[in-house]
Order: sequence, then C-alpha cells, then structure tokens
Amino acid sequence: MQYGERKLKFYWHAREADGHEARIHVYPNGLVEVETPQDTTLAEAKEVLLKRARWVSRHLDDIEARRASVLERQYVSGETLFYLGRRYMLKVIPSSAEENVKMLRGQIRVTTRDNSPAAIKRRLARWYRYRGGEIFARRLLAVSQRLPWVDEPPVWSIRAMQTQWGSCSPAGRIILNPDLVKAPIRCIDYVILHELCHLREHNHSSRFYRLLKRAMPEWQEAKMTLDGMSESYLND
Ligand SMILES: [Zn+2]
Repeated sequence: MQYGERKLKFYWHAREADGHEARIHVYPNGLVEVETPQDTTLAEAKEVLLKRARWVSRHLDDIEARRASVLERQYVSGETLFYLGRRYMLKVIPSSAEENVKMLRGQIRVTTRDNSPAAIKRRLARWYRYRGGEIFARRLLAVSQRLPWVDEPPVWSIRAMQTQWGSCSPAGRIILNPDLVKAPIRCIDYVILHELCHLREHNHSSRFYRLLKRAMPEWQEAKMTLDGMSESYLND
C-alpha cells in the first residue's frame, strides 16, 4: 500500500467567463493539478493556472512552511509525538543511571544518559518498533478472524519503509511499517486489512476493492485520515 496518493488539500473551482469550468488542486505533496474540459488546449490550461498563480503559490508556500517545521525536529522537551493517533509531549529526562521510554500523563518520557537528538531519535524509533510489534500482532489477529479466507494469522514482520505503510509479497508475507503505530487503530486495521485482501487479490482490481469494502465499509475514511497525517507520522 503506497502512501504517495495524499488527501486533497486545497481546491479551487469556478466557471470561467467563457462558460468553461476549471479546477485547480494543490496537493499536500506540492503537486498542482489543473482540471479542464477535454477540448482545452495546453495554452488555455496554462492561462487558467497563471490567473490563479497567487492563490497557487500561497498554498505552495504553506506546504513548504509546514514541511520545514516537521523536518526540523530537535528531539527536545515540548515537541509533539504521535502514538495511536493521539498527540503526546516529548519530555527528555537526562539521567546518569537509567535509560527508558515511558508514557505518563500525556507525555512520552525519554530518560537517557545521552540526550543528543540522534540518540533520542534512535531510542524513540526502537520504542515505536517495540510498541508496533505488540499492537500489530493483536490487530492482525483481530482483523484476520473477520476474514473467511484467512485461516491462520499470516507470517508478518516489521520493517521501516520509505514509501509504504505495508506490503504483501506474492508468497503472502506481510510487512508493516513501524511508523504506522503513530496512527489511530482504525487506520492500522485498514492497512492490515488492505494487505490481507492481497492474499486473495494480488492487485488493485475492482474485485480487490469489493473485498475491502465488504470487510470495512468505511475504509476510505480511514485512508483519508492516514494520508492527511502522513507527514506528521513519517518525518520523525
Ligand atoms: Zn495494495
């Protein structure tokens, strides 16, 4: 399952003076899409875009600013961390003896001898992976039980991936991204379900989507939540 297709963020729609309708989409990944009637020439499409250049560039600036703020994580107390879709505040506690990560009263507390950003980042990555292992195992079992074509929980593993939340090999081996544990349970269930549907249909055909919909009628909503939060979940 790719997370490349992100939730539509900005949307502009109007009837042009000549009666033509045009739409401009600015996606959170910075992609700008112009939708015009079929008989529109490229020059006309460019004109539609140029007329709204200010609107488009303002949204692209917003995207850039948000991306920069997400990327500049310092791994210091007060920063936001996500776990199962909820926000937690990072608290770094220097210690000469202890090393651990604990959740307490809305905080994720990292007690550490080395409080350099790199060390905290590594420690949190291990913690997410460990938590992911527990949560994913439980959800795999729960989701599998609802599916008549899954007789026993599939073979699975956790692996950090650059562009995927999950994958399913032709042999039926499922891989889940540890960052998925930052998302709400229903999103985790959706990714697991998506991969389990690939055990029956190894493609994204209409049969695949029928299977998905029968098992989780609200799957699109879960996907939208996941796509909308991709940047927050993935860049730390
Ligand atoms: Zn898929």
